[in-house]
Amino acid sequence: MPKNQAIFLDRDGVLNKNQIDYVKNIDELEIFPNIGECIKQINEQGYLVIVVTNQSAIGRKLTTKKNVEDIHKHIQQFLKKNNAKIDAFYYCPHLPTDNCDCRKPKSGLLVRAAHDFSIDLKNSWMIGDHDSDIEAGSNIGCKSIKISHEGNLLDIVNDILKS
Ligand SMILES: [Mg+2]
Ligand SMILES: [Zn+2]
Repeated sequence: MPKNQAIFLDRDGVLNKNQIDYVKNIDELEIFPNIGECIKQINEQGYLVIVVTNQSAIGRKLTTKKNVEDIHKHIQQFLKKNNAKIDAFYYCPHLPTDNCDCRKPKSGLLVRAAHDFSIDLKNSWMIGDHDSDIEAGSNIGCKSIKISHEGNLLDIVNDILKS
């Protein structure tokens, strides 16, 4: 039986600002300042924190896997200063036309994480800023919440952790 509960987070628009032409490198990464406190609270409540993010900019050759992984390292370093951490990052590098099983609204990234970390999906959450995030979570039985405006993660997390 899967034992662990997780809060799955979309990346862009949730942890950092959306950019018009993708977040392609560290220079374009604007992390929301309250993310440290937010993730720390999730860590302390014993939920896994797993980022699941569509990064078709890789498939479009606008950025590279290396750049995307550097962005994830950078987010992790930022969190470390707040004694917080993300347990794993999963990203889809594909184009919409690739018809992969991992680009949200498909649930492949969450399925992979659930397998790797023995996650109880029914008692886990998916938080994102697009309908595709909500669909990806709902499709596999996660409770899913859409962020109404950028930078609002802390309020949502507080509500979840209180419930
Ligand atoms: Mg997003
Ligand atoms: Zn994919």
